[in-house]
Amino acid sequence: MPAVISLDECRALAFDAFSNAGVSRAQAEATADHITRAEADGCKSHGLFRLPGFIASVQSGSLDPQAEPEIVDAAPGLVAIDGRRCLAPLSVARGRVLLAEKARAQGVACMTLRNSLNFSALWPDIEPLAEEGFVAFTFINSQSFVAPAGGTRALFGTNPMAFACPRAGGRPPMVFDQASSATARGELQIAARDGHEAPPGAGLGPDGQPTTDPAEILKGVQLPFGGYKGSAIALMVELMTGGLSGGFFGYESRAAYSTDGGPANTCQSFIAIDPVRLAGPGFPAHVEALFERLLADGDARLPGDRRLANRARTAEEGITVEDALYATVQDLARKA
Ligand code: NDP
Repeated sequence: MPAVISLDECRALAFDAFSNAGVSRAQAEATADHITRAEADGCKSHGLFRLPGFIASVQSGSLDPQAEPEIVDAAPGLVAIDGRRCLAPLSVARGRVLLAEKARAQGVACMTLRNSLNFSALWPDIEPLAEEGFVAFTFINSQSFVAPAGGTRALFGTNPMAFACPRAGGRPPMVFDQASSATARGELQIAARDGHEAPPGAGLGPDGQPTTDPAEILKGVQLPFGGYKGSAIALMVELMTGGLSGGFFGYESRAAYSTDGGPANTCQSFIAIDPVRLAGPGFPAHVEALFERLLADGDARLPGDRRLANRARTAEEGITVEDALYATVQDLARKA
């Protein structure tokens, strides 16, 4: 039976584990909160599961546990952050305040982040912007594991993007958050561990041939979703992140950093738009009309609805943590 713990316990365990590893209070608090939000929404692959990897990155030196991000007010509509090898949630939480201030003042603002250690889910980064009334995008690259459509060599990261839109009537924002690879890397690792096949189109083996053997794909390359269409999105994400921030593209990050099982040195960007300044005060009602139409059609649902249902459930019931992981996390948290 897996352990059942409260969200407060999850947050405290993660915070203590970071603190024990020598991570600053600010980085530890921001990242423990991010991990807890992933667990609350049922995103196990970006919750406590990632904690040992984060700690490994302190031990390997790829993370600077005491660093503070450098936040530059680059122009009236631009924020540029050098994460200085901090855990990303701290840079994002601090930079987002200035981003929102600029978007409120001008109607739109953009923020880039480079030199930032991240392997988290994206929706927690932009949901707060939509809660403040902004339509928001975020893009992030990772180390290169994905070949471009037609190619056989890893060039792109699994490169997710997320989009958030505020909703009327106090409803939580609509947020979608999706990788540009056909299959998440973690899913391939789990399929290989459990002896399952990967879905067709997930990747190529080391011989450059399509395969559904996940172990072969992990040795070879993953593919973007939807052929050249997903490949174009993965390319855009590289340009919006490594390109705009002046940091690493996915292949440069992979070359610069040895794999310690922890987060990659990544780049991220954000765009926040005040929709009412463009569309007028009718924007929220107009959006709801679209959503209503979508929801009225068969089994169609809004992206993020599964997460929000999990959030409501875990607030009452707590979260489950697989036994071996719980033991590991407790150990990391106990060594104070
Ligand atoms: P999924 O394919 O599971 O989901 C993608 C999006 O589609 C979600 O917003 C999801 O909403 C929505 N969705 C799923 N099914 C439906 C449906 N039937 N109808 C409508 N919407 C639906 O996500 P991925 O595997 O692509 O990514 C998983 C996570 O991994 C993301 O959080 C991503 O940010 C993260 N990631 C992080 C990386 C990093 O380096 N930091 C790299 C790659 C991925 P819902 O959640 O409600 O199901």
